[in-house]
Amino acid sequence: MPFQALGLHPLILQAIQETGYTEPTPIQGAAIPEILKGNDLIGIAQTGTGKTAAFTLPLLHRLHSVAPARQNATRTLILAPTRELVVQIEENVQAYAKHLPISITKVFGGVSERPQIQALRSGAQMVIATPGRLLDLMSQRCADFSALEHLVLDEADRMLDMGFLPAIRRVVNALPKKRQTLMFSATLSKEIESLTHEFQRSPKVVQIGRRSNPAETVTQLVYEVPRHLKASLLCHLLTDPTMNMVLVFTRTKHGADRVARKLESLSIKTATLHSNRSQNQRLRALDDFRSGAVRVLIATDIAARGIDVDGISHVVNLDFPPQVEDYVHRIGRTGRAKAIGDAISFICQDDHSNLRALERFIGRGLVRKLAKDFNYAEPEPLNQPRDEERGRRNGGGGGGGGRRFSTNSSSRFGGRSR
Ligand code: AMP
Repeated sequence: MPFQALGLHPLILQAIQETGYTEPTPIQGAAIPEILKGNDLIGIAQTGTGKTAAFTLPLLHRLHSVAPARQNATRTLILAPTRELVVQIEENVQAYAKHLPISITKVFGGVSERPQIQALRSGAQMVIATPGRLLDLMSQRCADFSALEHLVLDEADRMLDMGFLPAIRRVVNALPKKRQTLMFSATLSKEIESLTHEFQRSPKVVQIGRRSNPAETVTQLVYEVPRHLKASLLCHLLTDPTMNMVLVFTRTKHGADRVARKLESLSIKTATLHSNRSQNQRLRALDDFRSGAVRVLIATDIAARGIDVDGISHVVNLDFPPQVEDYVHRIGRTGRAKAIGDAISFICQDDHSNLRALERFIGRGLVRKLAKDFNYAEPEPLNQPRDEERGRRNGGGGGGGGRRFSTNSSSRFGGRSR
């Protein structure tokens, strides 16, 4: 089905064509007609499926085609869990709206409030925001949502995980009851269902792909390696020039910094993305990664949430994630749209039960590989503190948000999302 068949405005079709998309992705083909009709919608789709365009394209169409109740009023609000995701959604929307006279602004914490307040006061038609900062600005009476027509909760499952429910409730309570509400989530959990009852009216459900089938274009490999050799194995694998744009996940920010130091000492250009970095440092790290100025970006789960970088060649789970959702999210960073990418997981002694649980969950075993010419027998240096000890000694929490390796089987793979 071509984009032309979906009923989008010609100026939006022109922008899509200039973006280089040739046909809608499945979530776009299913969601766009429903949203154009004005229905509430739940979209269950993994990241990388084109879900951002699935909701922003029809909303732009409605903003452009339906006369506003009032001039200079905010008509669409999109809530997303992280600043990075807000920035990315805004970049996408600006591209799709480039031929439309629609004002779009973004609101997130960690930067000055003043320009955001000015943009809200001038009545930006579309506001893309994280819930915390938006609530701050609303309590200072800087935002007027009395003419709001559309609300989007993007990555709703993540927002719940990150504890945003009270903030979201307060924002939504300040919006007109008569509105179109769209909710996107990677999983349809009980919590998401109850959010639906609270915020939506008779929503249509659009579900793309089975949850147990993370990004089918991604080759998934496992290297078994002793914990103390993980960083050395990464350096060894990076001698392969096809690993040209590599996103590495570590469990802790200390781990991220330690690996980054090691790569930099070998002249491998590396940046880090975690919660000890300032907003500017994180945006700079993303820009440098996107432009190719750095080859490796090392991130913790929370900091990397929703990052949208095209062309990632490899995702490396230097630390294997304890939750299946995190695994799916991480490997969704590669193989986006139709690109090919590899996902590599390092597995040490402690990770075997989590790996087996993942394999049960996705219904197949992952391929084990042995690195050629790598010295697996190198002994562990004495007095090397593990990351969590290092974190405790420094008085800090680990894991870019405190997520720790869990030994409680109910919080492992699949336990949370049923
Ligand atoms: P998302 O799932 O929204 O994060 O999108 C994943 C990636 O797919 C982004 O890089 C988009 O620019 C890209 N994308 C979205 N829609 C299409 C399409 N119809 N054709 C090709 N790429 C697309």
